[in-house]
Amino acid sequence: MKKLVSRETLGIAKRILRNGNVCDNCLGRQFAQMYTGMTNNERGRIVRKALGKAETKKKCVVCKGFFQNIDKYADEAMKALKGIEFESFVVGTVMDSDLIDREESLWEDIGIEYCETLKAESNRELGKILERRMKKKVDEKAPEVNVILNLEKNKIELQINPLFVFGKYKKLIRGIPQTKWEKYKETVEDIIAKPFMRDSKGSGHAMHAAGREDIDARCLDWRPFIFEVLSSKKRKLNLERIKMEINKGRKVGVEDLMFSSKKEVIWVKSLQPDKTYRVIVSFEKPINEKGMEKVKKILGEVKQKTPKRVMHRRADKIRVKKVKGISWKRINNKKLEIEIKGEAGLYIKELITGDDGRTRPSLTGILKNPAKVETLDVVKIHL
Ligand SMILES: [Zn+2]
Repeated sequence: MKKLVSRETLGIAKRILRNGNVCDNCLGRQFAQMYTGMTNNERGRIVRKALGKAETKKKCVVCKGFFQNIDKYADEAMKALKGIEFESFVVGTVMDSDLIDREESLWEDIGIEYCETLKAESNRELGKILERRMKKKVDEKAPEVNVILNLEKNKIELQINPLFVFGKYKKLIRGIPQTKWEKYKETVEDIIAKPFMRDSKGSGHAMHAAGREDIDARCLDWRPFIFEVLSSKKRKLNLERIKMEINKGRKVGVEDLMFSSKKEVIWVKSLQPDKTYRVIVSFEKPINEKGMEKVKKILGEVKQKTPKRVMHRRADKIRVKKVKGISWKRINNKKLEIEIKGEAGLYIKELITGDDGRTRPSLTGILKNPAKVETLDVVKIHL
């Protein structure tokens, strides 16, 4: 460490104090890079003592008493945080323009070689007070709450960060979309949201899942998802109880609920598992055993132009996907139960119908017998 209070320091300090009284924090902050291992307030006191100057009761010409009042901002922050469950937080300061002007004109005078900004000191010092008084932790990377000291408006503002819960769901009924969709009143997301929103007192929600099934298809294997509660005021949720409530409704089943993070949203969205579907297919003309054997020809690569039914929301292009497995059971001479294993993104309905030649090959094309999907279920997600 450099010798405390060098001649250079004393010269700068004199220039700082030339303009009027400057508090210990504002004085010490200008030497923050020079002497480490202490607070700005401590630094300021040492420098002032070395100058032989006594502290005056006059208001600081830089911060106008901000640091003397910092406890009041802490009081206000604690009031705002009342009733909110959190363990980690971070403080951010929105500076007012006069304060910025005064700090910058000081720097014009003395240079910025060793200084720290008022904003940085405010964030840290208010953070330390709140840590001590609330027994919570500052976490700059992933805070649960952002405490914003807005000096422009002279008030504390809170930004409560989302709560993420990982889980897996099954969709046990047909006719509901996974997430909000045009005219549908009920969604998988809404069913899951109900107990979550009541217990978390959040302001909204979002659902991030590893793919989605068609509205009229059930999903009979566990599909991973992350449920996001916006502005979650409660975080110690009883996930076991929430799970039981969702499952009681018998429309959607959930399991493996556990607290998660934003990072895992990206992971869940990136999962592209193969899936096995069970399809009841009816044919226009009867099919015999020999015809059924031809079904196997569907294995391998399939070229799919964007299906007509989704063209309004998807770019029109050709996707090449693989059919990896197929097995079937005869129901009657015009109806088969088929299980198809396909790559993520394979359009199953079009694989059956051919979508007027937009999907090749298709069951309709191979058997030269128009085929129709009666029902469709996801029966296995190969994770
Ligand atoms: Zn000051």
